[in-house]
Amino acid sequence: MTTMSDAAPETRSFEADVSKLLHLMVHSVYSDKDVFLRELVSNAADACEKLRYEAVAKPELLGDDPRARITVTFDPDQRQLTVEDNGIGMSADEMTEALGTIARSGTKAFMDQFAAGKDREGSQLIGQFGVGFYSAFMVADKVDVTSRRAGSEEAAAWSSDGLGTYTIREAEPETAPARGTRVLLHLKEDAADYAQRFSVERKIKAQSGHVPVPIFLREKPD
Ligand code: ADP
Ligand code: MG
Repeated sequence: MTTMSDAAPETRSFEADVSKLLHLMVHSVYSDKDVFLRELVSNAADACEKLRYEAVAKPELLGDDPRARITVTFDPDQRQLTVEDNGIGMSADEMTEALGTIARSGTKAFMDQFAAGKDREGSQLIGQFGVGFYSAFMVADKVDVTSRRAGSEEAAAWSSDGLGTYTIREAEPETAPARGTRVLLHLKEDAADYAQRFSVERKIKAQSGHVPVPIFLREKPD
């Protein structure tokens, strides 16, 4: 279990398989990098769905913000893209588990195939499996995740450059979402397009039209 006695960031290593996967992502020649956006939007929608489910028994979790929402913010000047949801959120422990290990079935299947198969390129496998959150490192050289679990006073911040370690710390309450998760991508130079409205809007329409949660597009954070 994680205990964070103060706000000092703790640096931790990724599980070995995560490091392998990240190496693959960072050095990916996979051309369809758009998949990362689909993965982040789908995680945001899953989080809203989980909250809806938990709120059946605990309606107070919804507070004064009962409507599920995904907000995608692009900031061309800072070359940043943010995907934020007001879903279930993650505690620090949950973040460490979800974003530091490879327990999840889809990613595990991917790694098994990758380790076993000399017949297919990693890049082909990326397309075939949903490789989830870690695909963000195809387009970002740093990812910051700030999250607050529904019903919790506390918020946590996770950050990584995808090169073997991540940090986890308590987040200042005022910088964290009131509820849910914000994923901020510091885009690589060659991924600057993902900070442009025309590009992001088109990709979201093409990939995430079926998502059952409304997606709002914004230019720059407030
Ligand atoms: P999968 O979605 O297949 O489980 P991912 O790599 O996409 O795998 O995400 C890993 C885990 O991280 C999720 O299962 C979830 O627990 C957590 N997670 C990722 N994004 C979010 C989010 N926006 N809100 C809450 N939890 C999230
Ligand atoms: Mg996912």
